Amino acid sequence: MASYDVIIIGSGPGGYVCAIRCAQLGLKTACVEGRETLGGTCLNVGCIPSKALLHASHMLHEAEENFAKMGLKGKSPSVDWSQMLAYKDETIGQNTKGIEFLFKKNKIDWIKGWASIPEAGLVQVGDATHKAKNIIIATGSEPATIPGVEIDEKTIVSSTGALSLPKVPKKLVVIGAGVIGLELGSVYARLGAEVTVLEYLDQITPGLDAEIARSFRSLLKKQGLEIITGAAVQSAEALKTKVKIGYTLRKDDSEHQADAEVVLVATGRKPFTQGLGLDALGVTLTKRGQIATDGRFKTSVDGIYGIGDAIEGPMLAHKAEDEGMAVAEILAGQAGHVNYDVIPGVIYTHPEVATVGKTEEDLKEAGRAYKTGKFSFMGNGRAKANFAADGFVKVLADAETDRILGAHIIGPAAGDLIHEICVAMEFGAAAEDLARTCHAHPTYSEAVREAALACGDGPIHS
Ligand code: NAD
Repeated sequence: MASYDVIIIGSGPGGYVCAIRCAQLGLKTACVEGRETLGGTCLNVGCIPSKALLHASHMLHEAEENFAKMGLKGKSPSVDWSQMLAYKDETIGQNTKGIEFLFKKNKIDWIKGWASIPEAGLVQVGDATHKAKNIIIATGSEPATIPGVEIDEKTIVSSTGALSLPKVPKKLVVIGAGVIGLELGSVYARLGAEVTVLEYLDQITPGLDAEIARSFRSLLKKQGLEIITGAAVQSAEALKTKVKIGYTLRKDDSEHQADAEVVLVATGRKPFTQGLGLDALGVTLTKRGQIATDGRFKTSVDGIYGIGDAIEGPMLAHKAEDEGMAVAEILAGQAGHVNYDVIPGVIYTHPEVATVGKTEEDLKEAGRAYKTGKFSFMGNGRAKANFAADGFVKVLADAETDRILGAHIIGPAAGDLIHEICVAMEFGAAAEDLARTCHAHPTYSEAVREAALACGDGPIHS
């Protein structure tokens, strides 16, 4: 029987990063993965493939909308869907093989198959039993659906099916205006589909700063997405040639129907812990089915830990990665820490949306005195040259101390720009610190500095 210091179950961003960190810290490590390839949902059917399609469809949009304006004339490209899927699959392959290489380099054993935990200290995979001083559950999440809607991955699809449709649908209805619905909805809208998004709440992207969400909604509308909020979807029925969707408008309880060639169900995800045998082990779950942990990733059973989407907190790859590193460090006798106050969130549409820390709504609710510094990309030279001047940066700082409490960006490269604010927040910086930092010209990041200046005497370019 093989014996390890740590066996990690699941090789998504949480699991594989954890495995590498464990190995770096001298722990004998194995990672169990049942898929054909490493990388979990993120690399195989999530973050990476969706970004390939977002990139390709954005390039098409640029060619159609902006090339001629820059003097690049000629026929616009047309969509070769099978080639686009091949590009997406190649991108996946490069990334999953990269993890395989890193496992070999770090001498991490990949145990192929689906794991269960017969008892603390043992991991069963097929007929083989492996011994482990510590077991880390990093099994991630799976799409959650709603009553009356059954995912068949053909015409009623989750994000997984939406990444491999046989063709670009003429009409796509998306249930849920969260991250998945809007990212994939905007891909298909750019590729020519008529896209309608049905959202239960009155605002898109729950939890996002409301001003950013309003601006985001109007930009998506300009891109051709029809978004109906306050719409509670009750049913989706796959007929021979179309899917029939039934929904109620919450404001007056009126009932409505919509038709689509394909329906994307993007109503959230739920922890995936099936087959592990957690019940028999006595591992405590939360009411929402997440593995309960003690704040240091330990479950209710000694020697068993949980990280990532399977435990509480935002379902984000980078949150899982940080938890994977932290638990590895804890097992190696180090401090191991995740700062949950500074976890960025990014929506990879065009423009991108990025956020960190408190929203204005959070601060109002907490009764905290704050100031707001805003700067529009219309005042940013680089953004104007690149036809990317839609959007703005908003920095929220403590009214008295000037300490940065949060930042929200909608605009070009927002997902990259947010990190200078994350670093500033980690160091407890004031808005003035950011404002006094020299930013290269001409860059999008100048808009971040200007928003920080707007927390003080005011920006220069507006
Ligand atoms: P989500 O929770 O972001 O959004 C789901 C939306 O569906 C909500 O707005 C909700 O109000 C709506 N909804 C629920 N029931 C409904 C109904 N009956 N009718 C109409 N609308 C309904 O979930 P998601 O977009 O599916 O994403 C799942 C998880 O994956 C999230 O935690 C997300 O953060 C994560 N994710 C992140 C990224 C990223 O960081 N870029 C990308 C993809 C997924």
